[in-house]
Amino acid sequence: MSVTHHHVLIIGSGPAGLTAAIYTARANLNPFVIEGEPSSTTDQPGGQLMLTTEVENFPGFPEGIMGPELMGRFREQAQRFGATFLTEKVARVDFSQRPFRVWTHDKEFTADSIIVSTGAQSLMLNLPNETQLVGHGVSTCATCDGFFFRNKEIAVVGGGDSAVEEATFLTKFASKVTLIHRRGELRASKIMRDRAMANEKIEFKWNSAVVELKGTDTLQGIVLEDTVTGERSDMDVAGLFIAIGHKPNTGLFTGILDMEDSGYLITKPGSSFTNIPGVFACGDVQDHTYRQAITAAGSGCMAAIDCERWLEANHA
Ligand code: NDP
Repeated sequence: MSVTHHHVLIIGSGPAGLTAAIYTARANLNPFVIEGEPSSTTDQPGGQLMLTTEVENFPGFPEGIMGPELMGRFREQAQRFGATFLTEKVARVDFSQRPFRVWTHDKEFTADSIIVSTGAQSLMLNLPNETQLVGHGVSTCATCDGFFFRNKEIAVVGGGDSAVEEATFLTKFASKVTLIHRRGELRASKIMRDRAMANEKIEFKWNSAVVELKGTDTLQGIVLEDTVTGERSDMDVAGLFIAIGHKPNTGLFTGILDMEDSGYLITKPGSSFTNIPGVFACGDVQDHTYRQAITAAGSGCMAAIDCERWLEANHA
């Protein structure tokens, strides 16, 4: 296996990783980005914005911009300053000594510094045909897919801010949105809860779990189970939006980098430093609060500056 050395190696290519690439490239550090694999729904180059349609809240784009186009522009900008890319997944890392070591399925790399920006992914219900129905009635992104359910009856699963936000947003399109929650009380914040409760198009189905997705090619309805009585009932919906939280992509770093119980990487407050000097983390992989493209990009910039200063101070 050939081994290539890099000054800065960036793992992940969402807004955080690509912003870190732009900044480190402009600092003449020749960053090398292992960007993920296009076939994967969790490690796709460009991150979660590749699964989005229009992005209306990224500053500088008053007319809005499509998620994939925005990420294409980030990438182009990083390349313009000399960042290089490998479209593969990282299989294993060893940060126990410097230079750090990173492997893909058939290549090995060493690096003086690492920026981790592997992002997060949507949690799923883990029902048998769920993956196959994503994009065919099942969705994890109201912004991306809401439009397809104009004047239809749909449902959202979850009881947190994401679920309530998605349900409220989806009332722009759907004739009726049923929010299905496994308990009798929402976890969502009061302001979002009140807004949803006041929305005439939203109905609540309490103490209910989705236990079956009907249909093979497209969603044909769902089966609910009462979490108190165990009673089952059919529900006729054209679309089901899953909004039960996110999981950071940190499996690679278990036992290596400090993380919270939830799996999010821990960075020193106000910085991108992890517990290992020379390894930095930015974006959704270490942020469960904001989870926005712009905050991820901002933290990517912080990681690049922290990394540059650390390399300089350590003559690495
Ligand atoms: P949360 O973890 O807050 O909520 C997840 C919800 O999904 C919970 O109600 C949980 O139920 C339910 N759930 C989890 N697993 C399952 C399952 N297997 N089957 C059925 N239901 C399940 O995640 P969110 O994504 O909603 O929010 C994450 C963070 O992001 C929060 O801090 C939130 O405040 C923030 N956020 C803020 C927004 C805003 O302010 N605009 C918008 C979106 C998110 P239970 O309650 O029983 O545990």
